[in-house]
This record gives sequence, structure tokens and C-alpha cells, in this order.
Amino acid sequence: MSEIKLTDIPIIGFSGADVPDSGVINTCVHCGLCLPACPTYRITGSELSSPRGRIYLMKGVSEGRVSLDDGVFVDQMSQCLNCRACEAVCPSGVQYGGILEASRAQIQRIRDSGHEMTNLPPTTQVRTAIKTPIGERLIRRFVFGALFKNMGLFRAFSRGMKIYQKIGLQTFARKTGLIKLFGMAESEAMLPAISKQFTVPTGQVFAASAGIKATRRVALMPGCIMSTVFAHVHDATIRVLQKNGCDVVLPGGQGCCGALHTHGGDMDGGRELARKNIAAMEAAGLDNFEAIIINAAGCGSTLKEYAHMLRDDPAWHARAEKFVAKVRDIHEFLAAIVLNTADLKPLPLVVTYQEPCHMAHAQRITTQPRKLLKSIPLLKLIEMQESAMCCGSAGIYNLTEPEMAGQLGSRKVSNALATGASVIATGNPGCAMQLANELRKAGKHVQVKYVVELLDESYRGQTDA
Ligand code: SF4
Ligand code: SF4
Repeated sequence: MSEIKLTDIPIIGFSGADVPDSGVINTCVHCGLCLPACPTYRITGSELSSPRGRIYLMKGVSEGRVSLDDGVFVDQMSQCLNCRACEAVCPSGVQYGGILEASRAQIQRIRDSGHEMTNLPPTTQVRTAIKTPIGERLIRRFVFGALFKNMGLFRAFSRGMKIYQKIGLQTFARKTGLIKLFGMAESEAMLPAISKQFTVPTGQVFAASAGIKATRRVALMPGCIMSTVFAHVHDATIRVLQKNGCDVVLPGGQGCCGALHTHGGDMDGGRELARKNIAAMEAAGLDNFEAIIINAAGCGSTLKEYAHMLRDDPAWHARAEKFVAKVRDIHEFLAAIVLNTADLKPLPLVVTYQEPCHMAHAQRITTQPRKLLKSIPLLKLIEMQESAMCCGSAGIYNLTEPEMAGQLGSRKVSNALATGASVIATGNPGCAMQLANELRKAGKHVQVKYVVELLDESYRGQTDA
């Protein structure tokens, strides 16, 4: 008779820290109005892959009718993009993001303990969420446990990646299939070409442009990926703020915002990074800043959730609330002030705008980026179909759900190309990498730029290649 291991016994109910709020789960009245907004439902047509289906599964676990280690539940919590399109259209105000992240935290805990999942979906392929290749498991541990928590290591890694690209190792690894061997093909393909700009020096103050009166003092949140591979976007952001009468401070000691951790269910990792960033901003003189500016949608949405993330921490909750009150997405900030349009020069480009989910749905910032683009003389903005539908980037979704990510990515690029635009404007590093990767696959030479880069080009009167 085979021995029954403890890890084989189904786990009933949510427990411990970060339990999905049953009050939120029960707010869902099963009306189904969110279904057409859900990208995974649109692709699969399956009720289980819809917000309503996923909430039903969460309710099942919460009430003990579905086990926490049930493969269908685990599979659906992984397949969800956490794009929060459902949240934005829900008439009952279901705060879906919070219950999804808590569900993932519960799953992560049992996965870390080595527990085997049961009732694996028979028809769907068994996704990486359930059986993760060893290479990806090791990468996840390194990336989330070490790399994103230590900016020194992160910068050193970025430099290593630059060398990897420069000396031809990347081409070799792709051509020989070495990358596939480690189960890393999808994630490696997303790696952007790392430019010569690596870091924006922190701890510095960039004064308002010469001839423009300084009327505001703001802090810029450098982040991790944004301060290395997308450092040129920080350069552009600083110049645009300077042109609008801002003294811009880059406080030292900040790092990753914790979005990838929180969205993936590592709530403790997210909270650790939140405390670090709040302390860094306090040390730089939080009270003296009119705003904390963030130019990446996923990071901005997480920064705005710090108070919620630290709600059970009496030592940090009030500090987090004070921090959150100052966080402004760059588009939100610029659209709220009287923009310096006098110095904007013509940019004769046809542009379409792809909305990052965590800008449009999580922060409800939709009109501001368009308003900024329309303020650029001679720039023609053409709207694409489904601009607010997730591009499939969604943090590490390419790694965990490559097939769905690919379908959503190519759908997004087809919609963008149909506009005839020569530039796709966006506002999030994940979207920028996903779009560039899909355009590369499609063999199309369309540029992907941040909205703030286009504003900067207009102020400088030159278009960058
Ligand atoms: S999440 Fe909201 S929109 Fe979707 S079924 Fe529930 S109540 Fe309706
Ligand atoms: S977060 Fe996005 S993918 Fe997940 S259920 Fe809601 S709409 Fe669907």
C-alpha cells in the first residue's frame, strides 16, 4: 500500500496572513457585466476564465467547497492578468485586484512548502504555474528574492546583460537553442536592447530650465527597470518637468516599488520594498515635495497602494498614507498644471496610444495622456481598437502564461498597425517591452515610445530614432 504524504492531503480554506477578503468576494452579484472587458474571457470564451468565474472559485475556496490546491483554481489565478479591467467596469465596485493578489499569496505559500496540486485541468495544458521548469523556478527565486531587492546587484546585472548583448552571446544563445534548453526563451526574448545609458544619478537636484521660474519642487521615483534600461525615459521626464517650472529631486536609497512581488503573491516582499521606499522619501524631505512623480503605470499603481498594503502595520500605516497622498503619475501631474505649451515645437508624427492596464484601470488615468499628446503641434493621434485591452505583458505573465501573452500581444500589435501610426505611445516598461517584442516578431519597424518622451522631443524640437 502506498504511503500517504502530508503534502498529498487537500488543503481546505484560506488561512494565515493575506486571506482574500470574503466581504469583497461577496460583493460580486454575478451580473456578468465585466465579462466583455476581460481579455482572457475574450480569448477563451470560458466562464472559468472570466472575472465572475474566478471570483466564484475564490468563493468556493473561502467556503471550503474547492480546495486551495485544486489545479483549476491555481490555474485560473495564474491565467488572470491582474489587468483590473473587470474592476473598472464593475457596477458593484468589486475590488478584484486585492482578492486576486491575496489568493496568489495563499497559493504561493503552499507551493513554497512543496505541496503537490490536485485535480489538474484535463483539457488545458498544465501551465507553468502548476509545474514550473527548474530553470524558471531558479530564475524566479533569484529575480524576486535578490535582484529586485538590491539595486546595486540590479545595476551590476544590467551591466552584465549589456555585455551579453554586445559581445554576441545573446545571438549565440538564441541561435543554438541554449536559451530554450533552460526554459527561458520567452523571458529572454523580452530583454530590450540595453542602451549606453544605465543610471540616472540619484541624490541630485535638477533645477527648472533656464529662463523658467521654479514654482514647484517634486521628487522623481527612480525605480528599478526604469532607472536602468529605461533611464532615457527618466532623462526625458526630468527635462519635461524642468520645462514646466519644476525643481526635480532624485532621492537616494529608493529601489523597486514591489509591484512584481505584490502582483505575484509575494506580499511580504512587496511590503519590505514599500517600507524601504517610504523611508527613503522621508529621509529626502517628503514634506518639501509637492508630488512624488512616477512615470511607469505598474509602479504608480503599486505606490498608490502602499497604505493598503501596510494597513495592518501600525508602525508604517500612517507614514504610508502620507506618502501615497503625494504620488502622481506623470501624465496626471502634467495634465493638472498649466502646461508650458509655448515651448512645444511641431512633431509631425502619426501616433497611436496603447493604454497600460495599471494606468487606465487601476489608476483610471485615460484622458490625460491623450490630452498631452494632442498638445504637441502637428502630432496626429489615431485611436486603435481595444487600446485599453491588456497587451499580455502583465509583470511576469510572459514567463508564466506565454501562450496567452503571445495571443494578446499579437492582437494588440495588429490593432496598432491598423492605424498606420509610425509610433506607438505608452507609459509602462512591461508594455513597451511586450510591444517591441511583438513588433520584432512581426517584422515591423514601428517605434514604441513613452508619451513623456514625445513631449520631450517636442520641447527639444527633434525626433529621436
Ligand atoms: S465582478 Fe462585478 S461586474 Fe463582474 S460579475 Fe461580479 S458584480 Fe458583476
Ligand atoms: S484582472 Fe483582467 S484578466 Fe483578470 S479577471 Fe479581471 S479583467 Fe480578467
